[in-house]
Amino acid sequence: MEVIKGIPVAPGVVVGRAFVLDEAVRYVPYRTVGQQDVAREGARLTQAIEAAIEELARDRDRAAAELGPEPANIFQFHIGLLHDPTLIDHIRQRIVTDKVTAEYAVSDEFRKLAQRFRAMDNEVFRQKTADVLDLDRRVLDKLMGESEDRLTQLTEPVVLVAHDVTPARAASLDRNKVTGFATDAGGRTSHASIVAAALGIPVVVGCRRLTEHVEEGDQIIVDGKTGVVIVRPDEGTLKQYRQDIERIGSIRLALKDFAKLEAVTRNGTRITLMGNIEFPHEIETVLANGGDGVGLYRTEFLYLTSDTEPTEEDHFQAYKQSIEMLKGKPLTIRTLDLGADKQIHAATFRSEEPERNPFLGLCGIRFCLQNLPLFERQLRAILRASVLGPVKVMFPLISTSMELRQAKIVLNDVMEEFREEGLDFDPDIDVGIMIEVPSAALMASSLAREVSFFSIGTNDLIQYTLAVDRSNERVANLYSGANPAVLQLLRGVVRAGRRFDVETSICGELAGEVDFTMLLIGIGLRILSLVPSQIPDVKRVIRSVDIERCERLARKVGSFDSERQVLNCLRDEVQDVLPDMGGGRSAG
Ligand code: PEP
Ligand code: MG
Repeated sequence: MEVIKGIPVAPGVVVGRAFVLDEAVRYVPYRTVGQQDVAREGARLTQAIEAAIEELARDRDRAAAELGPEPANIFQFHIGLLHDPTLIDHIRQRIVTDKVTAEYAVSDEFRKLAQRFRAMDNEVFRQKTADVLDLDRRVLDKLMGESEDRLTQLTEPVVLVAHDVTPARAASLDRNKVTGFATDAGGRTSHASIVAAALGIPVVVGCRRLTEHVEEGDQIIVDGKTGVVIVRPDEGTLKQYRQDIERIGSIRLALKDFAKLEAVTRNGTRITLMGNIEFPHEIETVLANGGDGVGLYRTEFLYLTSDTEPTEEDHFQAYKQSIEMLKGKPLTIRTLDLGADKQIHAATFRSEEPERNPFLGLCGIRFCLQNLPLFERQLRAILRASVLGPVKVMFPLISTSMELRQAKIVLNDVMEEFREEGLDFDPDIDVGIMIEVPSAALMASSLAREVSFFSIGTNDLIQYTLAVDRSNERVANLYSGANPAVLQLLRGVVRAGRRFDVETSICGELAGEVDFTMLLIGIGLRILSLVPSQIPDVKRVIRSVDIERCERLARKVGSFDSERQVLNCLRDEVQDVLPDMGGGRSAG
């Protein structure tokens, strides 16, 4: 039995058989197969090599036609290597004698070959090292592409184990087949994690080298509350976890009762609890959990799940469906927040060079302002939807007032078009912004004069304030919403919102952390938008406290200078209010 600690993302516990998805990674773990699977691995190797040779021949011919004979020779050299019996027979032999996967045999033998080239005296040969590694990747892509296909053809439920999962992949998982997942990479608030949480299955990310320890078919436990993954559990552990699963099931049932109750503190202050969604169908969960509407609709997922760019009509239909499902409850549509870790498939943008620093690059509103037709298409759909129900529009990643003004000019231009075309829209639609960049938080008072609402995005605000990549497991211990610098910014935004009468809410994952609920109310927030499945838990805390206690807590926490002190204090307080609840997953 192996116990591996990762970062808890979505609560719940699952016990199941591991399905190991080998991504096109730089590192392929050592993995063995049974004698009965050796022939299958050999056949997979043959197929992968044949497919790679076919692809290389196509690339060679295209290069010869478009670029001349010299570049075409590079591909011919690759083809030659894949026909070289000393290399390929060796790989095949490794599968037979060492009983390793085709992936491992390929990557290990290619790595050794690359080392031999690297050690040569002749510069021309040394330069071949990169070719060898390139070829390695190509053959692995073929092998791993096949493993992706297997994921879409599952017949039995599995627990997915992968090096990393992209937001788009997470969005396309079939939750009836994938009952939980765990990854080597990723952070608590990386977008893949957010989508995974929306699937409502237990998820643990950032386990570093989990894929090295798991074999396909291994029994595995994923505990999404504590962030523990147990590979090949012993009987005692299994029994204990099976009991936990039953207990969690009954707590969930009890929490359902909170869905029908109001989110009101003991002394009568009503707190609005909205849901964050990526797809319209999640509105069902928002409503079933007693949510007051949608405070954040991450519309970029329309892009992430499709190979083609959504049309105005695609956008409109998604918004219309959401409005109809909400039956008069509000819908805040965030305009496209692409870039950073949300990379799109649509061919239009694929030719762009990858950015060196995507989180500081062309993302959020910046991407839209440089891709006006795409931005306008979405704004048109939002305006069309604005007459169907209470809709608000929100711009992401605003970092200067200039950006906000530019975005508003584009919106006004689209409104003008509507007038000219005689189309119906709500000219008084509420326009707001995400406060998720420190510059925006610091300038909240001046931004407040130009918007009707703020929504604090702590996921990004934490990463940009602390210079900690939200999706990087290696620095996950530094990523904390309890950091006093982050809390100071939150307080400042709430104060500015109050002074200028600008509705202020919070929609980062922190809003769904029960350890933070009292603090958020204590600093003055009255609207929280959170992952729908957390609404009952947060409601339960709200109904157990009064505002004075929350304000006292906020004052106390405000005097601390360490994130640890803050976190301990918040957890103690929740423990005190609800002894069976505190100490859960937390961005802290
Ligand atoms: C945030 O940054 O807190 C947020 C809600 O937006 P996203 O997670 O989509 O970046
Ligand atoms: Mg954000």
